[in-house]
Amino acid sequence: MTMTRRKFLSASAALAVAPALGADAWGAPLPREADIVVIGAGAAGIAAARRIKAANRRVIVVEATGQIGGRCLTDTATFDVPFDRGARWMHNADTSPMVKLARGAGLDVYPAPPGQKIRVGRRNARAGEIEYFLAALVRANRAIDDASRGKVDVSCASALPKDLGDWAGTAEFMLGANATGKDLKDISAIDRARALERNNAPIACRQGLGTLIAKLGEQIPLALSTPASRIAWSGRDVTVETPAGRIAARAAIITVSSNVLTAGNIKFTPDIPKRHLDAAAKLSLGSYDHITLQLPGNPLGLARDEIIIEQSNSTRTALLFADIGSSSMCSIDVAGSFGRDLAAQGEPAMVAFAVEWLTKLFGSDAVAAVRKSSATRWNAAPFALGAMSSAAPGSQPSRKILTEPIGCMFLAGEATHETLWGTVDGAWESGERAAEAALRRIGALRDPEPAAAPARAPKQRRRVAE
Ligand SMILES: Cc1cc2nc3c(=O)[nH]c(=O)nc-3n(C[C@H](O)[C@H](O)[C@H](O)COP(=O)(O)OP(=O)(O)OC[C@H]3O[C@@H](n4cnc5c(N)ncnc54)[C@H](O)[C@@H]3O)c2cc1C
Repeated sequence: MTMTRRKFLSASAALAVAPALGADAWGAPLPREADIVVIGAGAAGIAAARRIKAANRRVIVVEATGQIGGRCLTDTATFDVPFDRGARWMHNADTSPMVKLARGAGLDVYPAPPGQKIRVGRRNARAGEIEYFLAALVRANRAIDDASRGKVDVSCASALPKDLGDWAGTAEFMLGANATGKDLKDISAIDRARALERNNAPIACRQGLGTLIAKLGEQIPLALSTPASRIAWSGRDVTVETPAGRIAARAAIITVSSNVLTAGNIKFTPDIPKRHLDAAAKLSLGSYDHITLQLPGNPLGLARDEIIIEQSNSTRTALLFADIGSSSMCSIDVAGSFGRDLAAQGEPAMVAFAVEWLTKLFGSDAVAAVRKSSATRWNAAPFALGAMSSAAPGSQPSRKILTEPIGCMFLAGEATHETLWGTVDGAWESGERAAEAALRRIGALRDPEPAAAPARAPKQRRRVAE
């Protein structure tokens, strides 16, 4: 039986479940000065830079890698269709600025196709089984929600009903590893419950999300392959050191991931406050990777962009995204503690798992002819060091702490968003927000007028005068 995506996702409330386009490296010498310097050309950095440019202030983005996009990276070389090595889905089509910008840029955005299936061994789950699973997801979500209203912030795992039966493992995978990159025992119930606000109709970009971010960064002054190595800061100004030279600015926006920030690859003079570093450590990145196989001739017999999960009682499981864009490409996504351990063993081990897993679900003939394979390893990518942030139990307030200014520096990036954390949309919004704060700091934007005070009761005055 095929269930509708809306039904499936609204039950699980899961996150859903190119190289740079025209991004020239800085041809001219790096500018010595800017009004605001942005560290990182991912979604947050590009959103911030566009906002600053729109305010007619001088901005420069320094990016450590050779392309725009960060954790949105479209590979157009390995397979015959563009393939997102990082984020694949945007959310909230009606309100997302990115979806509107993608349409405006002439890119093709489309809603995730409606159907997905669950395998129980070699067969598809029956209608009754799916109903039971959906009910289990709803109950699990409700339990996490209830726990989030308690006095103490507990782990999502401790909140789960104990009677989910054969579907407990699958529910844990969908709500934990697949949605956030971490197992439920490592995630704060409050953080997870707040994340439920996002809507559940994901949108993809046919040309790839990496392509989209690169396109949105086309008019932005940026220096690729230019890692910031040290930032000297005060309440008045900031100097960013890179191998290509120093840039002095009146403010900086730092969009590197929480793991990159805590790894200490960027030195700060003086050190950034322990309060911020501790907060970033509590918002560490989970693990999420795509193992991609080219399987010519649709041997799995699946529809375009179909999503398959399995009934599983262990963390050794995955999500299949089949026949991507009608190509022969299938992505097997691994995540959480299992995904982390697997990725640490290297690409051959990841591909071997993907083949073994598909064989278990579809038989050995189905995977007899893998033409090409590729696997991402985001935990080992030095300028990302993981996939997406989630708060450890007890640590949800850390997100707000990260948004507190540090002198004239402002942190942005998905980890700083209180409800859209872990998403491209959240990263984008956080970049815009940090840009506004930085513009205000340098006097390029006025603080919003305070709301008019309510008229005083004349009675009181008269009484004083009497
Ligand atoms: C496999 C995978 C699948 C995902 N799926 C989805 C999904 O379907 N939907 C979704 O919404 N989200 C998804 N995400 C999460 C999403 O990709 C991120 O939330 C988002 O892209 C983060 O953007 P950002 O700008 O905050 O950070 P980043 O994209 O990490 O940008 C930070 C930038 O800083 C640069 N940088 C680091 N150090 C330095 C330095 N020293 N100097 C200069 N630059 C530096 C980095 O190279 C990077 O470009 C996924 C992530 C992964 C890895």
